[in-house]
Amino acid sequence: MSTLRFKALAELPFRNYRKDNFIEVPAKLSELFCQNVFSEETMREYLTKEAFQSILDAIKKGTKIQRHIADQVAVAMKDWAMSKGVTHYTHWFQPLTGATAEKHDSFFTPIEGGRAIERFSGGMLIQQEPDASSFPNGGIRNTFEARGYTAWDPTSPAFIMGTTLCIPSIFISYTGETLDYKAPLLRALNAVDEAATDVCKSYFDKNVTKVSPTLGWEQEYFLVDTALYQSRPDLVLTGKTLLGHSPAKGQQLDDHYFGSIPTRVMNYMKELEIECMKLGIPVTTRHNEVAPNQFELAPMFEEANVAVDHNSLLMDIMARIAHKHHFHILFHEKPFAGVNGSGKHNNWSLGTDTGENLLSPGKNPKKNLQFLTFFVNTLKAVHDYADLLRASIASASNDHRLGANEAPPAIISAFIGSQLFGVLEELEKVTDGKLSPEEKTELKLNVVGKIPEILLDNTDRNRTSPFAFTGNKFEIRAVGSSANCAEVMTVMNVIAAKQLRTFKTEVDALIGTGLKKDEAIFNVLREYIKQSKSIMFEGDGYSDDWAKEAKKRGLNNLKTTPEALKMELDKKFVALYEELGIYSHREFEARNEIKLEKYSTVIDIEARVLADIARNHIIPAALNYQNRLIENVKGLKEIFSEKEFKTLAKEQLSLISDISGNVSQIKVGVDNLLAAKEKAKNTSGSQKQAEEYCNKVKPLFDNIREASDALEMMVDDELWPMTKYRELLFTR
Ligand code: ADP
Ligand code: MG
Repeated sequence: MSTLRFKALAELPFRNYRKDNFIEVPAKLSELFCQNVFSEETMREYLTKEAFQSILDAIKKGTKIQRHIADQVAVAMKDWAMSKGVTHYTHWFQPLTGATAEKHDSFFTPIEGGRAIERFSGGMLIQQEPDASSFPNGGIRNTFEARGYTAWDPTSPAFIMGTTLCIPSIFISYTGETLDYKAPLLRALNAVDEAATDVCKSYFDKNVTKVSPTLGWEQEYFLVDTALYQSRPDLVLTGKTLLGHSPAKGQQLDDHYFGSIPTRVMNYMKELEIECMKLGIPVTTRHNEVAPNQFELAPMFEEANVAVDHNSLLMDIMARIAHKHHFHILFHEKPFAGVNGSGKHNNWSLGTDTGENLLSPGKNPKKNLQFLTFFVNTLKAVHDYADLLRASIASASNDHRLGANEAPPAIISAFIGSQLFGVLEELEKVTDGKLSPEEKTELKLNVVGKIPEILLDNTDRNRTSPFAFTGNKFEIRAVGSSANCAEVMTVMNVIAAKQLRTFKTEVDALIGTGLKKDEAIFNVLREYIKQSKSIMFEGDGYSDDWAKEAKKRGLNNLKTTPEALKMELDKKFVALYEELGIYSHREFEARNEIKLEKYSTVIDIEARVLADIARNHIIPAALNYQNRLIENVKGLKEIFSEKEFKTLAKEQLSLISDISGNVSQIKVGVDNLLAAKEKAKNTSGSQKQAEEYCNKVKPLFDNIREASDALEMMVDDELWPMTKYRELLFTR
């Protein structure tokens, strides 16, 4: 047998000790930090005072950069980049395909007289024109101008990859529709900045002039040996295994979590960290995750826009460096059945330009009122827009993970911990209107004053909640590992912006009726707490009881992507986006459609790959083995008497008929699957089509898989063509 599986397995023993994969880490990683970034420090060195100030203003205050300044910046960027051996530049952007995109152009420009120079101007820095028609646009192409352009985003620093200068950019159509993840994110960040700054300035601290959302993501992933990966068509084409019997040893022993990291993986991690340092991605922690061959990496949190870029960039670099170490990286949310999937936790907070974290309780009651304001408003926002938040993390791959007993369910709830829950219950008792002096004292001393300065209590952590308060930030735990962080961050910041605006209006109205500022705030917060109670849940989010309880509370449990995406188009959400200037109605619909189409395409591909593997790999292997058994039985019949034969061939005969049973289950299963798939493919309307794939096609995978996994346990290991789970998960 010379199937890919055996070739791959034969290569493995030589992998671990390849010299070229040993990585030396410099003693001081800090010296590498931002080496390949056009950072503030580099800019100070390369730019005139005027240009430097202008960029800083653009970053910090959002002011526009003048054309002559852009020219200066471009020249400085080029000089800096060329000093590091760079020859090309590209606008680096994040279209809705989910991958990052680049179009490399050379600095090299021929001029008259057979000469050439290296040129990079402000115009080239500001704008580039990739062909927009090859990126998803949800039908915008039909109604609007097809062409699009990328535009420089000065709030995220340029960086060098290889010999290319990468300029973080947004991607928009000529008629102004956003075609990427970043443009709406930037709008959302502005909206929440405006709303939160207004609240801070008016009620808590006059010195605040800017509020920046912060994001600290944690990235989970699997590593699989490249040769083993390539031996599995399902991994190559869909990023996950579509069949495979679970290994005898899984994660039951919990011996992988925080265990020692295997040598080959360690070398990959070291190289990755060096690259991250150079690119200014402040990674600090690395460890094994729960499942075998699963790992996690997390940086220090950063301003949300930069953090989003850094996550996308990191996913690119991870894949590249993994390859150098003969690994393939899997970002799929659930690559293996029966083994924990991967998520991407998004830790979110709001920071002021005066250096404060608005979700961190302070030393005195005044700071605590500020904390409570932002804390309660966040809960209210999540309560009111839970379905929108759910939709922002919906994808075919994340459907496998949510609610699978290792990740939060699709029900959006919030965990805040018993201490804060107690505080909110006290606040709920605040009387309507003016407060008596006793009440004020009571509130200040015994309610607000009782919030401990440090709430970080690891024992109190609830890992089963999709939205958990963890002392000074909220952790959104339901995000899929392959997702672009921008989408959930856009929603989180938009809903916070909208909520803070409403809060400001309501408090001002109460102040207008003669209430003192604090009284007005307490009154409004009290109502919000009452209204948001239904999403607060402190128990086990993985339990069935919670699903029942949530239903009673009227919370949605949108288990599948088509359900979540249908909800997304609710009038309330469309109105929200229009009010805050994030998307037009048409633009929002287009995005919804892109997601639906992507969902259908993913299931369609999975169905085809599964049918192919089952028919062309599994059935032939099973029949091959069955033939051997038949030969064996025939031989026994020749040699032995009828009576002896009956005893001796009993097991073989039963195996032969079991194989036939499973083979026909696969055959019938595949026929049904392909018929259902054709029907789904011909269904018109993106929503209907996605539902058809979800409800009529996807469920048919199970029967085929069940029969194939049963055969895997029967057929001679040497004849089995598919690399097994134990090989994928336990070879290092
Ligand atoms: P766990 O794995 O238990 O969830 P970690 O300590 O690994 O917790 O991760 C905490 C994460 O929270 C880190 O990614 C960190 O960057 C992030 N974080 C810490 N403070 C903030 C903040 N103010 N805003 C956003 N993210 C934060
Ligand atoms: Mg976490």
